[in-house]
Amino acid sequence: MQRIGLIGYPLTHSISPAFQQAALDAAGIQARYEAWEAPDSQLGELATRLRRADILGANVTIPHKRAVMAYLDEIDPAAQAIGAVNTILRQGQRLIGYNTDVPGFARAIRDDGGDQFQNRRIGVLGAGGAARAVVAAAMAGEAAEIRIAARRIEQAGELLDDLAALKGNVATRALALGTASAELAACDILVNTTPIGMAHRPDAEVSPLAPEWIRPTMLVCDLIYNPPSTPLLRAAKDRGARILNGLPMLIYQGAAAWELWIGQPAPVEVMRRAAREALSRR
Ligand code: NAP
Repeated sequence: MQRIGLIGYPLTHSISPAFQQAALDAAGIQARYEAWEAPDSQLGELATRLRRADILGANVTIPHKRAVMAYLDEIDPAAQAIGAVNTILRQGQRLIGYNTDVPGFARAIRDDGGDQFQNRRIGVLGAGGAARAVVAAAMAGEAAEIRIAARRIEQAGELLDDLAALKGNVATRALALGTASAELAACDILVNTTPIGMAHRPDAEVSPLAPEWIRPTMLVCDLIYNPPSTPLLRAAKDRGARILNGLPMLIYQGAAAWELWIGQPAPVEVMRRAAREALSRR
């Protein structure tokens, strides 16, 4: 039996094991997807075990996405620029790191959002880890401009400095979230990467952008998938805009990882169903 692991700490909330195992089973692959919970002190030892012959690879989640890079032999350029690896592939004795949030978000925009980055102005709320993947995807997709609004404007500036190697001809601006509403309203695709609106938070009923700044021509994305509809997405729908929650990105980053390990197209509809089922049990 071959094995794939999810490395993180803690892992109680992840639905990756549910939808990854469902995909392996549906494709008839003799492999187990396991939760490998490891605090910081055990990361090195766990990374060493990834070189064993029965391991296909791993996913990596909070808090190890950056620290795990020190244990890998090769890192994909986008993951290197972002400074985070969420997928590891074992090839013989070599461990290769990727960030599948980047193609995962791009596929969500294309397949579920029915849109593209090319020639579009992209507005990003927040400048943390997920924002880095969103911006990298928009840069690779040749967006016309990317505007990043963060409550600490210096965080948006740092993000742009770190991703400079991926920028190409894309225009970029770092903005202060509280005063950037008009600049965000002028965007074609708006992406919330802050946790504002997430279930079980004090701001679960708050939208990170006031409804009057949302235009009907926009595609509004929220990376949050629990709840499936956030205050931002409800406001966008009311305003006549197209909306996209975080579930497609979650599924497609998982599918991109699965395809690296297994070498064939992932059964994404099986994954989507299993993910929805796992979320409904929460
Ligand atoms: P992160 O690294 O902690 O970044 C969060 C960003 O939001 C930071 O810029 C943070 O600013 C900002 N922020 C937090 N609270 C805020 C508030 N009250 N007002 C304004 N800005 C605020 O987290 P992450 O890993 O990027 O994750 C962000 C969200 O994306 C989470 O909801 C996560 O579940 C979701 N996500 C979804 C997927 C998917 O596949 N759908 C993948 C990854 C992440 P400070 O640094 O100043 O706090």
